[in-house]
Amino acid sequence: MHNEPFVFSYSDQPESFPKKDPLPKQEIPGFLTQAVNFSTSIVKHMAGGMPQTNDNDQAKRLEICRSCDRYNSNDPNNPRCNECGCFLKIKTSWAGESCPLKKWSAVNSGGDCDCNK
Ligand code: SF4
Repeated sequence: MHNEPFVFSYSDQPESFPKKDPLPKQEIPGFLTQAVNFSTSIVKHMAGGMPQTNDNDQAKRLEICRSCDRYNSNDPNNPRCNECGCFLKIKTSWAGESCPLKKWSAVNSGGDCDCNK
């Protein structure tokens, strides 16, 4: 009869068994950075007359974001950018916004990202 207690250890696992979470951790910037980024964006958006993108431009931007490694889908209904912390449905709908990694640009204004990243 086998009386030894069962003890599981990582060494019991086959080599192919992942020992770490294979998915990258999805983290947005700290609260202060988010607040500064959002404040900067909203001031510029309002100063520019709050221009909106059309549905086609917004869809193109979101498509680029979805394929980006900085896309944060922790809340699938409200995805965010891990680079700047912005809510992407809002960011992509504001014409003057642009990607902090320059993957898409502001519409009409052609300016740099508004979030100081
Ligand atoms: S805004 Fe730019 S960096 Fe952020 S998720 Fe979209 S493509 Fe990626």
